Amino acid sequence: MNKLQKVSLCTAGLLPLAGANAQQASAQPSPERPNVIFIFTDDHAANAISAYNKALTHTPNMDRLAQNGMVFDNCFATNSISTPSRATVLTGKYSHLNGTPVFNEFDGSQQTFPKLLQQAGYTTAMIGKWHLTSDPTGFDHWDIFPGQGLYYDPIMYTAEGGTRYKGGYATNLVTDKAIEFIENAPKDRPFLLMCHHKAPHRPFQPRPDLREKYKDMTFPIPETFWDDYATREAALKDNKMTIADWFTNNDLKLTPPPGLPSDSLAKWLASSPKMLVVDGDTLRGRELIQYKYNRYMQDYLACIEAVDESIGQILDYLEQTGLDKNTVVIYSSDQGFFLGEHGLFDKRYMYEESIRMPFIVMWKGVIQPGTRNHDLVTNVDFAETFLDMAGVDIPEDMQGRSLVPLMKGKTPKDWRKDFYYRYYHDPNEHGTPAHYGVRTERYKLIYFWRLDHWELFDLKKDPNELVNLYGNPKYAKIQKRLTERLYALKKEVKDEDQFAYYTLKSGIVPRDKYAKDMKVVHRNDM
Ligand code: CA
Repeated sequence: MNKLQKVSLCTAGLLPLAGANAQQASAQPSPERPNVIFIFTDDHAANAISAYNKALTHTPNMDRLAQNGMVFDNCFATNSISTPSRATVLTGKYSHLNGTPVFNEFDGSQQTFPKLLQQAGYTTAMIGKWHLTSDPTGFDHWDIFPGQGLYYDPIMYTAEGGTRYKGGYATNLVTDKAIEFIENAPKDRPFLLMCHHKAPHRPFQPRPDLREKYKDMTFPIPETFWDDYATREAALKDNKMTIADWFTNNDLKLTPPPGLPSDSLAKWLASSPKMLVVDGDTLRGRELIQYKYNRYMQDYLACIEAVDESIGQILDYLEQTGLDKNTVVIYSSDQGFFLGEHGLFDKRYMYEESIRMPFIVMWKGVIQPGTRNHDLVTNVDFAETFLDMAGVDIPEDMQGRSLVPLMKGKTPKDWRKDFYYRYYHDPNEHGTPAHYGVRTERYKLIYFWRLDHWELFDLKKDPNELVNLYGNPKYAKIQKRLTERLYALKKEVKDEDQFAYYTLKSGIVPRDKYAKDMKVVHRNDM
């Protein structure tokens, strides 16, 4: 029997534990069993953090984490969408094994890293955006937004029931509750705190003072903003996430015409203007698209500033109480996000901006301050990493690897050189076709299998992924090698169903209806 099995057999609840584990459980937080604070946001692209990219914005507290810790430059989501990424983070497994490939209900009875930390004596808490439909499991304390949650006057639920916080702003509320949890956590054992913000998810609603601060700011458009999708037309032509056509009146926070009946109002809010009068100027065409982009960046970055402040407050609190010496602080977000690259907002595609997650870790005494790691890591590795930090055995059925050796500057020789990606939700409200693929350190091969369309990119020569090289004779050998590797990886991660994809009604569905609305479809059903 391994240590893990022993732990799970001897625990009915949190405590007491037997034998060696009881001793371990009552031990105070220490360098061997540090507190873990996992700050996680929704849809925060690495490009919108100055530790990754200085050209767009300034995030002093995220940078403070980076200066005191390590920045991972190549951290990726393996299914670039909120709920699946969260399920993968909790389980250390790909979507096809944790049962959450789309926005369906997470099966909370399965093994997760918070449960294992709880069983090993950690006090565990989940505060903020959960987004997995079922109630959290494996936590001593949880306090979550229902579904996407609200930025203003949010409602939060504990196991006892819901409370509306009138006048509250989501990011501040989560921060206050997170600090309150740390203050009240038992001092004789370490804690895990999942501090999960709703920001900067659509509809990008900033706190009023920050809206005011950003309202006249302008931002440079990205290099690929006017991408015409040549060589990638099949994959991109039906997408519904272009800023030009799909950034809505609601996203732009425009005031609706008075007196619209509710169905017309909903339609108006969901439509994207083709002409707009701003400060007396009539905007059309490219001018209007750039205006939309700028409004998008103002609100998106203002939402992020509130998160950055929150990180600052938590770091200040840790320093004032001396907890910074035995607390690991991690900042990440559930996937990347398009910030106008290829003319897009949103995520889902296997393109770089969508899959690249920020991942910054401060662990005093272990990580050398101000360092960067360039190895390929994914959200499948997070659970294993948190367990390893706490000295808890990593179950064999988890599919990733601990990042702790990388944090210590000792990347194992056999570290991965590529990873597998798969996106299932098709059709969906954003017109993204189902696809899977492999990304290596230099290349990326994507198969949009329902369209029988392949894409191959040389990321060294073409980091913006504008030139699809699939079928180019010069790349025939590489194409063959990558195709073989893709199917080998599929096998390795036990994704044996080549043709599964999922339909799911879009929009807000009551939590108990989610699972029923999901329908798995196989090629034979098409
Ligand atoms: Ca997300």
